[in-house]
Amino acid sequence: MRKNIVAGNWKMNTTVPEGIALAKAVAAKAAEVPAEVGLVVAPPFTHLCAVAEALKGSPVGLSAQNCADKTKGAYTGEVSVDMLVSTGCQYTILGHSERRQYYGETDEKLVEKTKLALAAGLKVILCVGENLEEREAGKHFDVVKAQTENVLYNFTAEDMANVIVAYEPVWAIGTGKTATAEQAEEIHACIRKVLAAKFGQTVADDTTILYGGSCKPSNAKELFAQPDIDGGLIGGAALKADDFIQIALSF
Ligand code: PEP
Repeated sequence: MRKNIVAGNWKMNTTVPEGIALAKAVAAKAAEVPAEVGLVVAPPFTHLCAVAEALKGSPVGLSAQNCADKTKGAYTGEVSVDMLVSTGCQYTILGHSERRQYYGETDEKLVEKTKLALAAGLKVILCVGENLEEREAGKHFDVVKAQTENVLYNFTAEDMANVIVAYEPVWAIGTGKTATAEQAEEIHACIRKVLAAKFGQTVADDTTILYGGSCKPSNAKELFAQPDIDGGLIGGAALKADDFIQIALSF
């Protein structure tokens, strides 16, 4: 059966000392969260080693926010999957809308990155989601279906054991506008159907699908109560340990 997960995407926030303090605060409160809810934090690359150290002995998982689409060599500024693994990282977020929007991340690139991440033993948190224009044009199902298929249909049912999908409507990220529980649920159910069509119902039922977009302590309960919402990818609210843990207590 699929696992509930609450993952914190710190984005480009916190200095290394601030990140260590935040990780320690999350680790200190992690015992309040039932063991069946997985906690993950995704600090910037520069923090990974130090945060891995700060999380030692706690159940909190460690994620990167991205990885290179090449294994090694002359790719200035890039960070490879082997480098991530060597920090103690177990996950990487891929395809966040900010990367798609500002850094030209394409589905093709995400296939390469996902292949490398899975081969290195990382779990992938793959983000999909429509922008405001696409939602207003009624294209949200088509956009999310295409993003999911374009990347994940290149993988096997076995690979899917290490893939988590995060539905993040772009118009709800960092805007304070949350998708209603119904809006989120209908897309999550659609993603699960798309997965079932390729990998079968069991794999679809076993895949964790997170919601992201202005999720906070005040709305997490309603979102997580939906049958196909298995937790959250949290941005702003993950920068406060108390709020992050409160969200994880919302199942
Ligand atoms: C995110 O960027 O992954 C996110 C969900 O951000 P926020 O919670 O701040 O909307």
